[in-house]
Amino acid sequence: MGAAGRLLVCATPIGNLGDVTLRVLDALRTADVVAAEDTRRTRKLMSHYDISTPLVSYHARNEKVRSPQLIERLAGGETVALVSDAGTPGIADPGHRLIVDCIERGIEVEVLPGANAALTALVASGLPTHVFTFVGFLPRRSGARKRLFEDMTAAGRTFVCYESPHRVAASLEELAQVSHDSRVAVARELTKVYEEVVRGDARRVADEIAGKEPKGEYVIVVAPAASTSVTEHDDAEIAERVLTLEKEGLDRKEAMRLVARRLKVSRRRVYDALLRSS
Ligand code: SAM
Repeated sequence: MGAAGRLLVCATPIGNLGDVTLRVLDALRTADVVAAEDTRRTRKLMSHYDISTPLVSYHARNEKVRSPQLIERLAGGETVALVSDAGTPGIADPGHRLIVDCIERGIEVEVLPGANAALTALVASGLPTHVFTFVGFLPRRSGARKRLFEDMTAAGRTFVCYESPHRVAASLEELAQVSHDSRVAVARELTKVYEEVVRGDARRVADEIAGKEPKGEYVIVVAPAASTSVTEHDDAEIAERVLTLEKEGLDRKEAMRLVARRLKVSRRRVYDALLRSS
């Protein structure tokens, strides 16, 4: 048996075909096989560039059986290009399992970067980008969404969510109820003809989106109201406040709770600040 092959993880456009990279086109052309979430969709992209590499399906429902088959081909020296329907495989899309299986078997994994809806929306939002959390798709159930919004807004940093068009208005309304003054950007149809970004506080954006027909694909980006951003409180300041309250007689738990409430940050944030400052 010759040397093991390579897995090429290929990002594809999220709307605008012009966003495919030269490296990805080359990978699709020269791979022995293309593993695609939806073979018909990827065939369309490939035909556009006159590429006729054989395709196999690799999606959420067959990855358990498909991954070992692809690993066998890779171990035999073949090059496999992995693509999802849009954007970067493994990000709210199939791919993770095959990547982990390759790593465990010592098979080389190369990522060919390109389009990704979360990062495109984050940058377009104009909200703080230096620290952020990607939460993927929001939970389908209202209660779980509200809890997530409570936790994330308390954490005091930017977060990015994918949401279906059918639930986007309801989710934004819930967000506004949890934190009306959070700063929000709703990015729709990124890189496409009807690309649109609605920006404002949570209440205003929820009201504007409620009045529109839900159409296309959406990313929601949320950041704390400017006055409550954690960037204004560094670790040392948070720790100092806890220690001061302790000196005043509060136990650590109470002191942490009070500091979190006063600074409008999560208890986790206070805990982390204490750890880092000790
Ligand atoms: N792997 C993809 C990536 O790298 O962004 C994400 C795939 S996930 C199944 C699809 C979700 O991504 C959509 O429901 C939407 O939230 C977001 N999305 C994808 N394309 C988009 C676009 N052109 N504009 C806005 N959101 C988009």
